[in-house]
Amino acid sequence: MTNVLTLAHELGHAWHNWVMRDLAPMASHYPMTLAETASIFAETLVREALMAQATTPAAQLEIAWQDAQSAAIFLLNIPARFEFEKRLVEARKVGTVQPAQLREMMSASWQMWYEDSLSQYDDLFWASKLHFSISGLGFYNYPYLFGYLFSLGIYAQQPVYQDNFNQLYTQLLRDTGTMTAEDVVQHHLHKDISQAQFWQDSLAIVETSVAQFERLVSSVFG
Ligand SMILES: [Zn+2]
Repeated sequence: MTNVLTLAHELGHAWHNWVMRDLAPMASHYPMTLAETASIFAETLVREALMAQATTPAAQLEIAWQDAQSAAIFLLNIPARFEFEKRLVEARKVGTVQPAQLREMMSASWQMWYEDSLSQYDDLFWASKLHFSISGLGFYNYPYLFGYLFSLGIYAQQPVYQDNFNQLYTQLLRDTGTMTAEDVVQHHLHKDISQAQFWQDSLAIVETSVAQFERLVSSVFG
């Protein structure tokens, strides 16, 4: 299931680039805020389609488990990475940072978001995760949390626009190289992402998924 959703994710990136294929290069470079919109949107679509086809609680649980895992990664793991990056940038203003200090910063960042919910923390995560090591691209982690909640907010508009939604979504993606995240949603879906409500609507979808996951856990193992 993890592989299926990774494939869906990458297909989303492919779709994003496909709908922009006829645009001038200058109009087709989207910012980091919008880089993970189509990919995570595609994960949601595929997961929903699989859930609709799953007939037994065990099969549904397999999908819901992935869904819950994504929520934990996007809402806890990514903010912890962001915390680490902030600490790293601050420390680099003063001088070079030694491995011992990096390990401390990593542990403190996990601790801040996961508190005592895990038995141990990987304090060498900074050494293995590619996203921390691309020198030309700073803060290459938050786009995943932003893209997650942003794409769910867009997905939440599907029932409002129904048959027109696909066209609106495609047009929205085409404009990601020329508009900001704020403008692209305001222009195509008439939603204001500077208001908390947009993000609360996204979190409400996550809450529904978590409730469904909990129900399935009780019905399969209860
Ligand atoms: Zn991606």
